[in-house]
Amino acid sequence: MTQVESKSVLIVGAGPVGLAAAIELSLRNIEVRIVEMRSAPSTYSKAIGINARSLDLLEPSGVTRRLLQLGHKIPGIDFQHPDGNSFSIEFAKVRHRYNFMLGLPQSETERVLESRLSELGVHVERNTRLERLQQNERAVTARLTSEDRAETIDADFVIGADGAHSTVREHLNIRFEGHRMPGDWSLADVRLDASFPDNRASVCFGDDGLLFALSFNPGVFRIASDRPNVVARLPEGSVVHEVLWESDFVVNHRVAETLAVGRVALAGDAAHVHSPLGARGMNLGIEDAMALVDAICNNQLSEYSTARRAVSRAVVRMVKAQTRLATARDPLLKVARRYVAPRLLGVDAIHRAVASRMLGLGY
Ligand SMILES: Cc1cc2nc3c(=O)[nH]c(=O)nc-3n(C[C@H](O)[C@H](O)[C@H](O)COP(=O)(O)OP(=O)(O)OC[C@H]3O[C@@H](n4cnc5c(N)ncnc54)[C@H](O)[C@@H]3O)c2cc1C
Repeated sequence: MTQVESKSVLIVGAGPVGLAAAIELSLRNIEVRIVEMRSAPSTYSKAIGINARSLDLLEPSGVTRRLLQLGHKIPGIDFQHPDGNSFSIEFAKVRHRYNFMLGLPQSETERVLESRLSELGVHVERNTRLERLQQNERAVTARLTSEDRAETIDADFVIGADGAHSTVREHLNIRFEGHRMPGDWSLADVRLDASFPDNRASVCFGDDGLLFALSFNPGVFRIASDRPNVVARLPEGSVVHEVLWESDFVVNHRVAETLAVGRVALAGDAAHVHSPLGARGMNLGIEDAMALVDAICNNQLSEYSTARRAVSRAVVRMVKAQTRLATARDPLLKVARRYVAPRLLGVDAIHRAVASRMLGLGY
């Protein structure tokens, strides 16, 4: 690790990726400001699975220890076909100390990250929006506005961790290459009595779409479907006590055409988006954050772009393939899902490789 004290970095966006980057920069004694246009931390559960790679990366800062105290271990995923046949992926087969997915709502993960950042003396500047960005060979100039004032600041580097609709990406004129999947998806967080297991993820393939379920608090489940109105798709006999959050969404598979221009770089959803199947979104972004801090320390933004874009493209390709298989209506793909996938997963080495990739290992 190179430690460079004279650099200053502006981070746009205090989601999990911006917060993780800010912690890592502070630990390396790099001056950092982090601005966020929202007035308060998000309360949405969004990404509810933290993978082994993120736990590894967040360990030196002390964040992992706190996440482990709050979250619960998800040892595997069960897949169920309409004819009653089932198969599973067991993370325990992976040889790693974190051979599980850690279940925790994203709002909690962000709370832990922000509190660690505060301990390091950096506070999120809320109600503050990046409006404009210009750069030359020596610095980046950013125009920030808040409720009652506007400010123009210079920084050595800017990190665009400002999400899928990134202002930074727009200012750099970077294309967000890829496609939208046809169809509307839905998700909900519900207080529920149902036949889903409490500590494992379940995916039920049905003739009218898939149903995903995972409990992330006692009695509270995230349910999701590749069709609208997921609550109406619950199995017969399920009793919904309360719908805590409900959202329809569309799935895009996209990667930015470059992850850095000059002294400005993208990380997280600003750089890549994909379907939630596989729980990679936030985790991939945390990996970006760590790689980008290294690159800033070593003045290697262009290397960061090349290396992380390759990883992002590989992950998005894999998630897209998994999503196509899981949501297939095509008879051939359905046969592959019903007969080929369970056989392949029956081979120990393949099972371990698939589970490893899902935990973010092996890239
Ligand atoms: C409904 C939903 C469900 C999801 N479910 C899952 C899941 O199950 N598993 C999973 O892995 N992922 C899931 N995700 C994706 C996951 O939430 C994202 O991958 C993750 O939030 C990305 O983090 P980020 O920090 O890159 O961006 P974000 O969390 O989007 O944070 C970006 C921040 O930048 C701020 N910002 C934007 N523009 C500006 C500006 N101009 N100036 C200042 N601030 C700005 C925004 O207000 C925001 O707070 C889900 C997402 C959604 C929306």
